[in-house]
Amino acid sequence: MIEDRRFLEHRGPAEHPERPERLDAVHRAIAQRADELEARPPQLASNDELLRVHDRAHLGLLDAAVEQAPAQLDPDTFVSERSAVVARLAAGAALDLACAVARGELANGLAAVRPPGHHAEAGHAMGFCLLNNVAVAAQAIRAQEGVERVLILDWDVHHGNGTQHIFESDRDVLYFSTHQYPYYPGTGAVGEAGSGAGLGATVNLPLPAGCGDAEYLGALQRVLVPVARSFQPEMILISCGFDAHRDDPLAAMAVSEAGYADMTRLVRCLADELCDGRLVCVLEGGYALSGLEQGTRAVLDGLLDPGPSESPAALTPEPGGPLERLIEQLDAVHGERFPGLGAA
Ligand SMILES: [Zn+2]
Repeated sequence: MIEDRRFLEHRGPAEHPERPERLDAVHRAIAQRADELEARPPQLASNDELLRVHDRAHLGLLDAAVEQAPAQLDPDTFVSERSAVVARLAAGAALDLACAVARGELANGLAAVRPPGHHAEAGHAMGFCLLNNVAVAAQAIRAQEGVERVLILDWDVHHGNGTQHIFESDRDVLYFSTHQYPYYPGTGAVGEAGSGAGLGATVNLPLPAGCGDAEYLGALQRVLVPVARSFQPEMILISCGFDAHRDDPLAAMAVSEAGYADMTRLVRCLADELCDGRLVCVLEGGYALSGLEQGTRAVLDGLLDPGPSESPAALTPEPGGPLERLIEQLDAVHGERFPGLGAA
């Protein structure tokens, strides 16, 4: 587990939803399990580590922006004086934890970082995100630890446009996203399925507002499980936002603490089955302090479960509801590639 007071030093304007207090809520959940967690200090990501994902021009722009701080990089994305350092610590934390788990030094892990990363594109900051932490981690375990196939599960309520674009033509990094749709940032339709050699290694599950535990758990059981069994990842990274929580002030989903616990347990079982349990969660969004605390508690329960944990029983979404309709669309795009997709 990685958390650090320096992650509080990145600040936007007052009232910005991506605020330092978010990590205090995450910390309350971590503190309850502190005895069982091994804490690691975050390392700064180096230029070489960041250049596996980002353009040199983007790194230069970020350094130039903090010289002018406080500064604005897009309508929602701001930097303070320490933001470039803090963003490098966030990317470095995700990378270090992923490498430690890939080497077998740790069973699994949670990087409680900010700023978040999944909207950051190779060439620009976007949507509260400066550097794409999970993408930097995925590239590091491939380049440094000999991991060949990585599954990135993005259950943040927003679509991770940056992560999708960074890996869309790469057959060895499967990007799987559940997100509210239509919603910010506008990408993430079912038909966005990757390109070139990466066709099929992008799986998007756009869900209408109002979905809760049954739809989220159902989506993982009926779509993620067959996709992952077919892809055979050597490691799973979760872009772990908690803004699908029912208290979240930005989004309109209804996932509960029990829902996040079931989702984590399911992914933990999948990781145990497919990749020796190698699983790393990297914090993304989540703007209700209650949702962040409950979500973190649920994720830690799943990660710390001594196992072999039992995959949660299916909840029953309404027949003919949004998950059923989505699975029909997914089957048309991905059905031939992923046997068993959608089976209840
Ligand atoms: Zn989000």
